[in-house]
Amino acid sequence: MCGIVAYVGHQEAYPLIIKGLKRLEYRGYDSSGVALLNGEGLKVYKKKGKVADLENELKAQELHATIGIGHTRWATHGEPNDRNAHPHYSQNKKLAIIHNGIIENYAVIKQALAKKGHQFNSDTDTEVLVHFIEDLQESVGCGLEEAVRLALQEVVGAYAIVVMDANDPTQLIAARKSSPLVIGIGENEYFFASDATPIIEYTKEVVYLDDNQVAVVKNGALKIVNLANENQIPYVQTLEMELETIEKGGYEHFMLKEIFEQPRSIADSMRGRIQADEGELQLGGLRPYMDKLADAKRILIVGCGTSWHAGLVAEYIFEELARIPVEVEYASEFRYRNPIIKEKDFVIAISQSGETADTLAAIQLAKSKGATIFGVCNVVGSSIARETHAGSYTHAGPEIGVASTKAFTAQVTVLTLMAVSLAKRRGTISEELYRQLLIEIAHIPRKIEQVLKAADRVKEIAAIFTYARNFIYLGRGINFPVALEGALKLKEISYIHAEGYPAAEMKHGPIALIDEDMPVVFIATKDSSYEKIVSNIQEVKARKGRVIAIVTEGDSFIPSLVDFVIEIPKTHEILTPLLATIPLQLLSYYIAVMRGRNVDQPRNLAKSVTVE
Ligand code: GLU
Repeated sequence: MCGIVAYVGHQEAYPLIIKGLKRLEYRGYDSSGVALLNGEGLKVYKKKGKVADLENELKAQELHATIGIGHTRWATHGEPNDRNAHPHYSQNKKLAIIHNGIIENYAVIKQALAKKGHQFNSDTDTEVLVHFIEDLQESVGCGLEEAVRLALQEVVGAYAIVVMDANDPTQLIAARKSSPLVIGIGENEYFFASDATPIIEYTKEVVYLDDNQVAVVKNGALKIVNLANENQIPYVQTLEMELETIEKGGYEHFMLKEIFEQPRSIADSMRGRIQADEGELQLGGLRPYMDKLADAKRILIVGCGTSWHAGLVAEYIFEELARIPVEVEYASEFRYRNPIIKEKDFVIAISQSGETADTLAAIQLAKSKGATIFGVCNVVGSSIARETHAGSYTHAGPEIGVASTKAFTAQVTVLTLMAVSLAKRRGTISEELYRQLLIEIAHIPRKIEQVLKAADRVKEIAAIFTYARNFIYLGRGINFPVALEGALKLKEISYIHAEGYPAAEMKHGPIALIDEDMPVVFIATKDSSYEKIVSNIQEVKARKGRVIAIVTEGDSFIPSLVDFVIEIPKTHEILTPLLATIPLQLLSYYIAVMRGRNVDQPRNLAKSVTVE
């Protein structure tokens, strides 16, 4: 959460930082700020609201500097307002800091500093850290770099920070623990950012900082040390990301662009992994661990939010095809409940950003108990990619809309490939089914194109339901997690209360909610539970609920029962979620837009949840 951008070099820092902050706004957007250092000293400018509000406020000012730091905040400590926005000054205003994360022991440090006469201008944990650094500089009599290291040795929590010093216009000091930070290396210039998007148009050479590392740029040189001041060799990587992938490309919102990108993003997540005609399926990252997976006593899947839903879909597929028991857990619950983890457990950790704090902690816990950990994430070089024994990237491309769409379907795709490959290896499916599944998987992108053609129809349906204050989503079997995901999407971006349930559970409670105003979305495709779900639809109609049904093309019976129908092409049952999810994404999107919501940056949310 929160976006960090910093620059030191020969370009104008202010416009570069503002542009970078806009790219990172998906990470946090309740307030923003910049600090610039020039002949007039170190100045901080900050403002509640979007980056555009800050820009507007500053438009009359001449802001020239070749060094600066910027931040877009997702508040954890103190409400989103001007004073709590970052950057924060130290007591003597000689330092300024930007921070992503939480300093958990800030209260104790704050108390000690207050006793020494420090006065604080915000409610944040961040301000305490920069005061602490300055205090150490003075009490120990050391330079800024050492003071940063000493302070971080005392700090409990998560952080990515960049500190700027009024006394040195060539220096930026950055550090990270559990929050991402990328350093871009240009020609006599350096960039720091929470992800690579603010950097790519200037340089493709980057270093991903590791936990407990401190990066110091001074007089045009970069040095990386650990908290014990031992030199660390920077691993310089070349970015493969292209600029157009992070721009809207003519769509009104990133979310809509990302929904429409799914034929391609799913194809990308399969690329090089599957050759249906030849019956070939290989996930490079899985190959060395296939024996372990095939011998696993149990597969444990951990994730949060939408990734947890992808895990639930995978549970059905793994158990159905590979006959290994699967448990899917919220990472946040798993890590704190003393789970039983054995060496023969194979843990799959799912996260779009690869930075999800709870998932990372769950990985560390499972690793410490000897389990094998496999990551499924989207962001190359992310913490989860580095913390796991092995993994497969989803290759969905940058996802900017806060509500996940293409990352979800790419996760489901990769997990499906894993399950099919495992089933083949364990001999739990016939050669014929294996071949048939590969061919069906390869057809998914084309079938999604077909589903997307119904966008206008979905929009018409959305227009009818903008009045709704509640929604129920129902599905059975593998479509139950699709119902959960549909409901989550609607909640996230339209702020309409929505519940997902297994359709049969409805009788045990939610049926009490049904009346003539209640929209009920059924995922009612022609599969093994078709007859059962038909009965559930009848039960809702008998109570006058308004039913929208996602049905398989050619079904004529359910359309005769319900109010609205959206068709999806026929596919193998285990692949239905990849198709059925698409109209639900569109439905949420159009309802949210019609209700005037900010779909790309819904309130209170942030894209990459790096706090627990
Ligand atoms: N904990 C800090 C704050 O509340 C940083 C939050 C963030 O990551 O944006 O200001």
